[in-house]
Amino acid sequence: MINRSSLIENKNMSKLTWFGVGGCSKYYFQPSSEQDLFSFLKDNNMNLPIYPLGAGSNIIIRDQGYDGIIIHFNKLKEIFIDKKGVITAYCGAMDADVARFARNHLRTGLEFLIGIPGTIGGGIKMNSGAYGSEIKKILIDVTAINKNGILKKFKVSDLKLDYRTNKLNDEWMFLKARFKSNIGSKDLIQKKMKEIIQSRKKSQPTGQKTGGSTFMNGKDFKAWQLIDASQCRGLKNGGAIISNKHCNFIINENNATATDIEALGEIVKEKVFKNTGKKLNWEIKIIGKK
Ligand SMILES: Cc1cc2nc3c(=O)[nH]c(=O)nc-3n(C[C@H](O)[C@H](O)[C@H](O)COP(=O)(O)OP(=O)(O)OC[C@H]3O[C@@H](n4cnc5c(N)ncnc54)[C@H](O)[C@@H]3O)c2cc1C
Repeated sequence: MINRSSLIENKNMSKLTWFGVGGCSKYYFQPSSEQDLFSFLKDNNMNLPIYPLGAGSNIIIRDQGYDGIIIHFNKLKEIFIDKKGVITAYCGAMDADVARFARNHLRTGLEFLIGIPGTIGGGIKMNSGAYGSEIKKILIDVTAINKNGILKKFKVSDLKLDYRTNKLNDEWMFLKARFKSNIGSKDLIQKKMKEIIQSRKKSQPTGQKTGGSTFMNGKDFKAWQLIDASQCRGLKNGGAIISNKHCNFIINENNATATDIEALGEIVKEKVFKNTGKKLNWEIKIIGKK
């Protein structure tokens, strides 16, 4: 039976993304369990696109809204460990919670997740990484579900994860993932996590409305260096600004709209291209009507 109570029409999405901007989703569904999600997808006869959302830390939803169904995974967040040390996390679990869970079970290898403010689902989609590690290095496999409620398990090699990308068809939404880990010392794991947190505080704006790194690095360049060299640090458009602290971050400084933020990104792309001949590609996902 569909838990219709969690299907909302015309849901304002602005509070559900880190940027704090964006319009309404035609429908918004927040499954409370795997069964709830499965039933919804099996019974859903609305012919609308479906888009999975995690913590909203890498996304802009445009002001004109999204003409489809956004499925918010944030309540599917259980984490388990088996006797062999394999950690299973539902894809709505926050990366930092998975890092802390591993530490509490004396398992090492997942410390880098402490600094990424997203969910496991978003992390797999983006092959998120930091401090020399990335999802690809720890993922064993992921169970995904499509719009018809069909479940399928993919090995990490099936996903072809690369720098902030994967090659899996967008029809698949990630449900639960298994991660490898090694036995570690709680003190050392804690020390590493503390170092990561402190280092991020130094290099990145914290407590700000942002989407993290705006553009991807290229094979032969760092996006921030091109942005800096093109005099974009501190550049403003409406309420949006290029961070002075980390110039690959856009900040919603003063009631920016999604349009302000996207347009600022496009201005930066243009300036960088004119100045260096290099084409920047958005790392942040942008959805919704123009
Ligand atoms: C301050 C800050 C610092 C950051 N630092 C880093 C960093 O160090 N390294 C790094 O890699 N990233 C970083 N990011 C970016 C971001 O946190 C990661 O990309 C994160 O993994 C996104 O997860 P999310 O749950 O927020 O995804 P969302 O923003 O909700 O979505 C991003 C993409 O993932 C997809 N997605 C989400 N859940 C699922 C699912 N269950 N199944 C299928 N697709 C799904 C969405 O459809 C969308 O395409 C940072 C962001 C911020 C704001």
